Amino acid sequence: EAFNANVAEAAKLNAFIVTTPDHAIRAAEAVDADRAAGKPLGKMAGVPIGMKDLFATQGVQTTAASHILEGFIPPYESTVSQKLWDAGAGMLGKLNLDQFAMGSSNETSYFGNVVSPWRRKDGGNAPLAPGGSSGGSSAAIAARLCPAATGTDTGGSIRQPAAFTGISGIKPTYGRCSRWGIVAFASSLDQAGPMARSVEDCAIMLEAMAGFDPKDSTSLDMPVPEWSAGLNADLRGKTVGIPREYRMEGTDAEILKSWDDGIAWLKDAGAEVVDISLPHTKYALPAYYIVAPAEASSNLARYDGVRYGLRDLPDGAGLQDMYAATRAAGFGDEVKRRILLGTYVLSAGFYDAYYTQAMKLRTLIQNDFVEAFKVCDVILAPTTPTAAFALGDKTQDPLAMYLNDVFSVPASLAGLPAMSVPCGLNKEGLPLGLQIIGPAFDEQAVLNAGLAIE
Ligand code: GLN
Repeated sequence: EAFNANVAEAAKLNAFIVTTPDHAIRAAEAVDADRAAGKPLGKMAGVPIGMKDLFATQGVQTTAASHILEGFIPPYESTVSQKLWDAGAGMLGKLNLDQFAMGSSNETSYFGNVVSPWRRKDGGNAPLAPGGSSGGSSAAIAARLCPAATGTDTGGSIRQPAAFTGISGIKPTYGRCSRWGIVAFASSLDQAGPMARSVEDCAIMLEAMAGFDPKDSTSLDMPVPEWSAGLNADLRGKTVGIPREYRMEGTDAEILKSWDDGIAWLKDAGAEVVDISLPHTKYALPAYYIVAPAEASSNLARYDGVRYGLRDLPDGAGLQDMYAATRAAGFGDEVKRRILLGTYVLSAGFYDAYYTQAMKLRTLIQNDFVEAFKVCDVILAPTTPTAAFALGDKTQDPLAMYLNDVFSVPASLAGLPAMSVPCGLNKEGLPLGLQIIGPAFDEQAVLNAGLAIE
């Protein structure tokens, strides 16, 4: 009875779109068999994980939380999920997310919003957003439904939900994890990564997920370091940069306080702390909200009612009618907003004014980081401007929702490894996160600073 009550309670979070306990059991049995046969076990042997429903899983419905993909059962497995199975992990189910990973609160899902397991201590009982887009992943881990889950991060979707729910998550350097078999949102930004309860768990899981894949043309052809073996919270001789442009208006005082705490902890760990400047920070959010929708509008052209999931074919309709009816019925409002925005900024006449300008800004933002990493090893910043907000708070105001990404999008545009680690609770008892950004390929520096804060 207690078990059934727990299951019912867990189901209320709406973290899973489908559950696949058999998959996890098969993985555990395979590990038992290997152990009995004296075979070496993988890094993730027997670990039951959640899989964001953006990763194609062979024989298991993959929806990107969209009606247009409902019922789509991929005949193939994404590279990252296959690597996790090869390392011995099993799948508990497919986790809810913002539709096509577009959002910061998991409220754009066709399958309903996810509810954070956290509540305000003051009795203000409004259900809270688990963050997004990997909100099913963050809620499931925070509620102890699974010890770890995959996430994807295009503009913060691993780091922001991790911060909102008191867990850890790392977006590795762009190209570390293969994008093959992940439903594409904005291909030049999309990157998979682990979400888990500790920095060490993230390091181990990332080792299993990362690696060169000839099926992804932007995959990094570099060896995967053993980050978990290299973990070291002693930061003597390391320099941490504090970007002055991140002290921006609209950031809660408690976030600034947690940032100061983080600075003190890193000094305690032996690091030298220096002020740095990332002068083009204020252009990151506008540049992101041009580049990401532009790429999305192109990527989402493939959903035509022919190849996947939903098909809406009105009586006597022709091909164009089928496209229009399928896309009108299949995409949610936020997805349509992005397709319209993206198509607009890419259209002849506006391309130079918007898309080209945004790409120039992207280069300037990348260069800011290159300059900064000449004087520091990692950068410490807040992950989000506020703690978790209530469900429904920002759904009527897309701009307010986008503003939540202000600290996470710069590292995305620059393709840099960035992590969120929990740094305590605010006075309402809600978790806060700190962000560590590192130079390209130096996940180790990011993980080590995270460990010093954890
Ligand atoms: N919140 C951002 C957006 O809506 C980032 C999402 C993501 O990283 N997938 O685009």
